[in-house]
Amino acid sequence: MSKVPSLTLNNGVTMPQLGFGVWQVPDAEAAEAVGTALEAGYRSIDTAAVYENERGTGQALTASGLPREELFVTTKLWNDEQGYDSTLRAFDASLERLGLDYVDLYLIHWPVPAQDTYVDTYKAFEKILADGRARSIGVSNFLPEHLERLMDATSVVPVVNQIELHPQLAQAESRAFHARHEIATEAWSPLGQGRGLLEVPAIAAVARKHGRTAAQVVLRWHLQLGNVVIPKSVTPSRIRENIDVFDFELDTEDMAAFAALDEGRRLGPDPAVFGA
Ligand code: NAD
Repeated sequence: MSKVPSLTLNNGVTMPQLGFGVWQVPDAEAAEAVGTALEAGYRSIDTAAVYENERGTGQALTASGLPREELFVTTKLWNDEQGYDSTLRAFDASLERLGLDYVDLYLIHWPVPAQDTYVDTYKAFEKILADGRARSIGVSNFLPEHLERLMDATSVVPVVNQIELHPQLAQAESRAFHARHEIATEAWSPLGQGRGLLEVPAIAAVARKHGRTAAQVVLRWHLQLGNVVIPKSVTPSRIRENIDVFDFELDTEDMAAFAALDEGRRLGPDPAVFGA
């Protein structure tokens, strides 16, 4: 079984560099998919209140019999729950659905700048952290300008910013900003949602060269950049394939071939306006 390396976050907590994402997995199928992932060696699971599968995810965590301290569970606060009091209530509801006493990482799902509530929301996150109910707090889909404002107005630097990132959206500016502030970059849709990216000829060529699949070389690219990745699949063979990426390395030439693919192409919404 592959051994997944960990990154040390800016608060000293360690986080597996590769985890399992469950967006679009129905609650009734989440327990099976997460169970398969845990059997395959994943220990980090990424869910969110809006995915409506925290219950199924939690069932798999309990059923696995794994010690809680070996697991790293992330969930996220949805946009319409932002605000101090509503965040505290939404967090209680997430914990209850997950069947946990604490999460390892709690994220603000989107900044929703037009709503202008992410600072108050994050103050509630700081309370949840101080109460020991989240081991770490962070954000998702924040642009550097949102992070600047948040860090000016609050005292705990987010450990992570989870953003859309794949070879066609390499996010150099955000990655450099995060690095300057010791914020880990976590890549969502790391495989470009499997839509077309895995058929790009340059990626297929790198895959052939290493005798690996396109998904595996894309995940290697992320890992070698230092990104945290959370690929999603409900297919057991792919779940196993996506974690089997720790016994080979891309060379400089391969990394350059990937760098040439960046075209700033978003698959998801623009964080500057989403949720407005
Ligand atoms: P992904 O890039 O992980 O792609 C998943 C899709 O790729 C699968 O549905 C399947 O079609 C295909 N795939 C997976 N493994 C494959 C393989 N080995 N070979 C061929 N095809 C394969 O996309 P995602 O689910 O959008 O992103 C991963 C996770 O990121 C999500 O599950 C979720 O946890 C998180 N996420 C977060 C946000 C956010 O706003 N914070 C947004 C989207 C996703």
